[in-house]
Amino acid sequence: MSLTYEQMLDRLYAQIPKRSLEKERFEFPRVESFTQGPKTFVKNFLQLTKIMRRENPKDLLKFLTKESASPAKPEGDRLMMGGKFSEKQINDWFTRFLEEFVLCKECGKPDTHYVEHNGVRQLKCEACGAISPIRG
Ligand SMILES: [Zn+2]
Repeated sequence: MSLTYEQMLDRLYAQIPKRSLEKERFEFPRVESFTQGPKTFVKNFLQLTKIMRRENPKDLLKFLTKESASPAKPEGDRLMMGGKFSEKQINDWFTRFLEEFVLCKECGKPDTHYVEHNGVRQLKCEACGAISPIRG
């Protein structure tokens, strides 16, 4: 027997995994930190900056310094923060940085870089081409 056009379409859609039809969500790993004396260290900082594609983490350091009101600077593969902060607090800061400065506002992918337009910095997405405004 031959299939009707509708039956063929049904078969075709049945073969597409459900997941690929949904919007792909970017999974950011958990920030791992520990405190030592009056300081807090982020163990997987290098890995996190690579995933965010911010190998030059100038903006992230500025953001963290402002949010925590204490110095934040890389030390080898780790990040040193000049205060005592819980892992949850640091995770919250990274999540906010990600949402405001890294993820594309249109498609939610992290494949972005900064572009400057008339002196205003914007986020350009390499995945979908969208340009979104960013704060600061
Ligand atoms: Zn995009």
